[in-house]
Amino acid sequence: MTETVHLTINRLTVETTRGATVLDAAGAIGIDIPTLCYDPRCAPNGLCRMCVVEATGARLLQAACVTRAVEGMTITTESPRITRARRTVLEMLAASTDLSETPDALAQIAETGADIARFAGGRERRPPVVADNPMFVRDYAKCILCWRCVQVCAEDAQYAFAINFDGRGFDTQIATFFGKPLPETTCVFCGQCVGVCPSGALKPLRAWELEHPDGPAA
Ligand code: SF4
Repeated sequence: MTETVHLTINRLTVETTRGATVLDAAGAIGIDIPTLCYDPRCAPNGLCRMCVVEATGARLLQAACVTRAVEGMTITTESPRITRARRTVLEMLAASTDLSETPDALAQIAETGADIARFAGGRERRPPVVADNPMFVRDYAKCILCWRCVQVCAEDAQYAFAINFDGRGFDTQIATFFGKPLPETTCVFCGQCVGVCPSGALKPLRAWELEHPDGPAA
């Protein structure tokens, strides 16, 4: 028998099933919590921190996509503290990453009033475009590090394990093991990474060539 739990979200009582996340429970009653890294096709990771909410009894903001609903929990999804946190995430992302093809981020910048010039002058991630195979182009200057491509390449779908996080802190990036060209990895060119990428960082080679008629990807 499915066990139910009851929680309160923005003063509304919600009944959901044990194991559901706060993001699931809020969505079920029409409360929209913004996300960037979350994709229902992938296991949630709480990486981007856009979905942070306040939970009574918790000192720190909690990522709704990975926080399980428990009996009696009280959640607030909008407050000055939450807006400030979401805005800061967007401002830091805008300072380091090319968001021109991440419509969700651009929409949330407009909605929250994030100041994309707040951290102007800081380091930017501008690695060279990688075109090492006849199928895909990887432009990690646009990567928001959502991790979806890594997940579908691994346990969420393909079990190929061709890519993963590399580096630490600001220098974290998606890479093949030992930086090998994709044809020298376990990549099977299924294209699922391209399908889940929300930022234009991964594209079919043909799409890239149509956008860049002046020359091949370097
Ligand atoms: S390449 Fe795309 S899917 Fe992969 S982590 Fe970056 S933004 Fe996410």
